[in-house]
Amino acid sequence: MPYLGGVFGNPSSVHHVGRQARALLDDARDRAAKLLNCKPSVIIFTSGATESTNMAIFGAARLLKTKGRHIITSTIEHHAVLHCCEYLVKKEGFEVTYLPVDQEGRISVESLQKAIQPDTILVSIMAANNEIGTLEPIDGMGALCRERGILFHSDAVQWFGKEPFENIQQFNVDLVSICAHKLHGPKGAGALYVRSPLLPDPIIFGGGHENERRAGTENLVGIIGFVEAMERFIKKPVFDKGKLLPLTNRLMHAIENLQGAHLVGARNDRLVNTVSFVVEGSDSIALLAGLDMEGICASSGSACSAGSLEPSHVISALGIQKSMANSLVRFSLGRESTLEEVEHVESVLPKVIQRARRK
Ligand code: PLP
Repeated sequence: MPYLGGVFGNPSSVHHVGRQARALLDDARDRAAKLLNCKPSVIIFTSGATESTNMAIFGAARLLKTKGRHIITSTIEHHAVLHCCEYLVKKEGFEVTYLPVDQEGRISVESLQKAIQPDTILVSIMAANNEIGTLEPIDGMGALCRERGILFHSDAVQWFGKEPFENIQQFNVDLVSICAHKLHGPKGAGALYVRSPLLPDPIIFGGGHENERRAGTENLVGIIGFVEAMERFIKKPVFDKGKLLPLTNRLMHAIENLQGAHLVGARNDRLVNTVSFVVEGSDSIALLAGLDMEGICASSGSACSAGSLEPSHVISALGIQKSMANSLVRFSLGRESTLEEVEHVESVLPKVIQRARRK
């Protein structure tokens, strides 16, 4: 709050008000670097995970295109990854291999190993899936990529604040996307970590901000909020397993016992806050509307594609029957979620499903 009105300077201005803003920006970068255990210069502040991911994929692909044009990703990545890959195939002559997932949404290190070609330059695999919560074995994939000299990017926005974090080196990654709003921080702020001495091509041109890597006046308030959220919530995960696991286990148990409802995603290696399921003979729009009428905020696919009538690409990748593919519901619990709220969901869910079926 003090930075919203109190510090109005532009970090690029040379006068004292600007210098005050610059000092805060530098301080935020130093604090983020200390937390991640890297040099401040390898953190590029962005507007969030979409931008970080675009920067990683376009930046790495264009930097390395003379070495090769083959990229590997998975069928269940966020559209921030998939649409970049599609663009590179359509417009810039790249080839992309999409790794499949098992029934729980897990990508195997073996499938990555098999997909690597002599001209593979980049692998992008998410650390945890946003729609079904499955955790991916990215340290193994990162180690394999490092051994083969291939750049490895991970969209890790769902992972931070939920799993134990020591330092950025634990992932064996070259590029990592992080964002603030998945950490109870402000929307519209995030970062790309770029392992030194890599220099991906920029995707936004203009001024010399962010060490010439991302032009445009910095969102100082967002950046400070982002770093504050990282400091408070990453090392001591804000999504506390001790508190949330009993709640999500309870919710999963209740859903399992509902006729026609099927849990999706991993049973064990999953994000502690995410519970997803599909319902026979129903669709997400009717289910979400019914839940909303009961005061319950839920989502279907990713928040960005909620409201779309197309089945989620993640659900399609899991091989779920077509008749249920349009009925995904995702509950995401947070730091404030309580047992009473979970009990409320449990008590109204049968009624909501029944109504949604009648429509
Ligand atoms: N990647 C994943 C896995 C996400 O869950 C999201 C957001 O929901 C994004 C990328 C996009 O993030 P942002 O909205 O910060 O651009």
